Amino acid sequence: MSNAVPIGSLPPVGEVPQKMFAQVIRADRFGDPRAAFQVEEVDVPELKPHEVLIGVMAAGINYNNVWAARGIPINVIAVRQKMGEPYDFHIGGSDVSGVVYAVGSDVDDVAIGDEVVVHHGYWNLDDPWVKAGKDPMIAPSACIWGYNTNFGSFGQFCVAQSHQVLPKASHLTWEEAAAPTLVGTTAYRMLFGWEGNVLKEGDVVLVWGGSGGLGGQAIQLAKVHGARAVAVVSDDERGEYCKKLGAVGYINRRDFSHWGVAPHWKDGAGQKEWTAGCRAFGKAFWEALGERRSPDIVFEHPGEATIPTSIFVCEAGGMVVICAGTTGFSASVDLRYHWVRQKRLQGSHGSNDEQAAAYNQLVCDGKIDPCLGEVYAFEDIGKAHYEMEEGEVVFGNKTALVGAPERGLGRK
Ligand code: NAP
Repeated sequence: MSNAVPIGSLPPVGEVPQKMFAQVIRADRFGDPRAAFQVEEVDVPELKPHEVLIGVMAAGINYNNVWAARGIPINVIAVRQKMGEPYDFHIGGSDVSGVVYAVGSDVDDVAIGDEVVVHHGYWNLDDPWVKAGKDPMIAPSACIWGYNTNFGSFGQFCVAQSHQVLPKASHLTWEEAAAPTLVGTTAYRMLFGWEGNVLKEGDVVLVWGGSGGLGGQAIQLAKVHGARAVAVVSDDERGEYCKKLGAVGYINRRDFSHWGVAPHWKDGAGQKEWTAGCRAFGKAFWEALGERRSPDIVFEHPGEATIPTSIFVCEAGGMVVICAGTTGFSASVDLRYHWVRQKRLQGSHGSNDEQAAAYNQLVCDGKIDPCLGEVYAFEDIGKAHYEMEEGEVVFGNKTALVGAPERGLGRK
């Protein structure tokens, strides 16, 4: 018989039931997230020695589980099964706020009853790369918690490695606390993780998708560190939202049409038109900034549609740092602008423990707003991913209530 508790509640702290409800993806449902996610009852998983079981109060919605629901570009279930995992389902969810219910036998830095959030950097603790003390997020075993791994925050209980666990900001509600960690820590690594091009006071930054999850965090991180961000958006309402977050100005990308893979360099007429588009965009950046300066860092994630422009407008010696290719992966780089002006195109993924802790401290100190967007019911997690994919809900970071019975709770 089931001893799962109803959604909107959790058992007394420390009492772990055998069963729980979760929003589950299965391979035969891959496709539209509204159908791919279904509520099922599953066993609460056993902990490994270095793991922590968290009672989920609220879960953050991120784009990665749109990919998981669609089964592209990888089937996360099949990949894990190949590596020996027994489960034929995926419980995603890479952002959480909640309470620690149990800890593995090797865990001494997290205790039952702690109120926590989790960062999404996950790796094998026995990986030789990690053991050698190198950046674990570059290790062969590094991956994204709640996407590549099972038992993320879309269940009543989730499992994380203890090094991922961070204190929840006490001034935030459960739904606020579940909102920003994945995008915020990713943005932190992008802006501060790449020596030689670390964001510093006085720098200027171009932020694509400024009103989105990553963008809103990047704008705030720039402001907190004395840098100036110019956002790119697709309408004025989004632009004004970015200014409220601290952007000094914005560019409406709908004013331009030179997007995507640039014409071949032998296509003189095409190149002329494309270069004119890039130059006009660069001029728009100067106008939004109020100064004739190009961006020291370009904060990239659209990818195929925007990379050629990003490389073109980046300052000499500057960096285009990218963590996704939402519009496609076949980006082209005009090497003339790249090598002669000695620019850097840097990939970035997830975050390591130090970067995540530094970001979380800014949240705990009230210096970074979690940018809470829409709050969904647990039952609507599939719908939330569908609306994210459709770009229907565009402001801030979306969350879903899981164990929290209503909004507004969890603030101390
Ligand atoms: P989001 O909240 O949906 O924001 C994406 C933004 O991209 C939108 O606000 C949109 O703004 C902009 N955009 C859409 N189409 C565009 C186009 N054709 N050209 C330029 N901009 C466009 O998503 P997010 O949470 O910021 O995540 C963005 C991407 O990063 C996703 O693919 C996600 O999976 C990935 N990601 C990766 C990591 C990692 O660790 N590697 C971490 C977090 C997120 P406008 O329409 O206003 O321009």
